[in-house]
Amino acid sequence: MPVNDLELKTFKAIVECIEEGSEKPSRAAIAKELGLSRTTASNYVNKLISAEILEELDSESQGRGRPGKPLTLSTSKRYAIGAFFDEHDWYLSIVNLQGQPVENLHYPIERMTIDSFIQVLIGGIKHIQKKYGAQLLPAVGIGSPGVIDRKTGTIIKAVDLGWRDIPLGRIVQNQTGFSCYILNRYRATGLGEAQHGQGQGVKDFIFIGIGTGMGSAIFIDGKLMFTTNIHTGGIGHIIVDPHGPYCSCGRKGCALPLASTDALITNVLNSLADKTLLTQTTLALQYATEKTLTLAQIMQAAQDGDVFAQQAVQTVADPMCQIIGHLITIINPKKIVLGGPMATSGNYYVDYIEKKVVNDYLTPEIPIVQGSMDVYTGARGAASLVTKRVVELTFHTPDTWYLEQ
Ligand SMILES: [Zn+2]
Repeated sequence: MPVNDLELKTFKAIVECIEEGSEKPSRAAIAKELGLSRTTASNYVNKLISAEILEELDSESQGRGRPGKPLTLSTSKRYAIGAFFDEHDWYLSIVNLQGQPVENLHYPIERMTIDSFIQVLIGGIKHIQKKYGAQLLPAVGIGSPGVIDRKTGTIIKAVDLGWRDIPLGRIVQNQTGFSCYILNRYRATGLGEAQHGQGQGVKDFIFIGIGTGMGSAIFIDGKLMFTTNIHTGGIGHIIVDPHGPYCSCGRKGCALPLASTDALITNVLNSLADKTLLTQTTLALQYATEKTLTLAQIMQAAQDGDVFAQQAVQTVADPMCQIIGHLITIINPKKIVLGGPMATSGNYYVDYIEKKVVNDYLTPEIPIVQGSMDVYTGARGAASLVTKRVVELTFHTPDTWYLEQ
């Protein structure tokens, strides 16, 4: 259904008007807001209703005496796919145009390789394509590990996984026929937090995700910050200790080898080689019986007051405090939201950081909170890259993947 540029622009303006307004507008309200005649606005609205992008509700708008039926984005006609990768798992969410999930799917990867990472994702998308058919917008939003070139859909590098130059967008597009919008997984989670989680209603906040890798999403005046460069938000390679260990990026003392979940687990396992700790920490006993330890066990012990576990968590939290202290000083946000496996495995890590940042960096006392515990937050954030393009994806056939913004 190709349309001209003016029509496309007007459709987008109407959809934005509905998305951003605090009340559901009527046709008359849209005409007034966009400076159109009622007849013209109504014609555009009719086309958006036939394209199943908008729905007109039956009830009079919220009983406030405003004439006309309220309009809303469709809740049950068109859907979008968002995908998010963490640890060894893909999480896929199918959302309606209001961003509400209608189905969530989890695909664990049994043997982790670059090929299985890509093929498991493609398998998930194809399953959804088969089930939802033409109701799907023909694109997928992807929250991927690593530094992403959003113009080409390429993972430039993911040093925590040892990957370089993976043309994920091109492969997914070739095999599924869907366009791809790719961004770093923690930037996708930040979008999910902004829309449905701890960032709701907060215009200026920073989301930081910490797992085997780390990343941040800075929101200023309600918008995720981008630059023309590709490294926006990459906090893992901030040098926090010039005398620290070498990072796999080649520099010395980056946050990544000091503050990731791998760093925490490795530090704890190395310390437990010292048998004198056996009487001092519950983790030693768990390690002796299970021969390994999980992030969740370490975080639980810290929360239960195990001093050894608490010190281990503090060691990886301290570099993050340094980064957060500086970010608060530079950006001056209203809130910091911490997510990813490290922050969502227990409260001790986040509580420690909240106190330490104010004490050591004398920052304004802003809330530093744990992000949403919903593992599909990142997938919903990625799906929003698709739903926000509902007009283009309906009225134009995209021939390539697009910028993530
Ligand atoms: Zn580095």
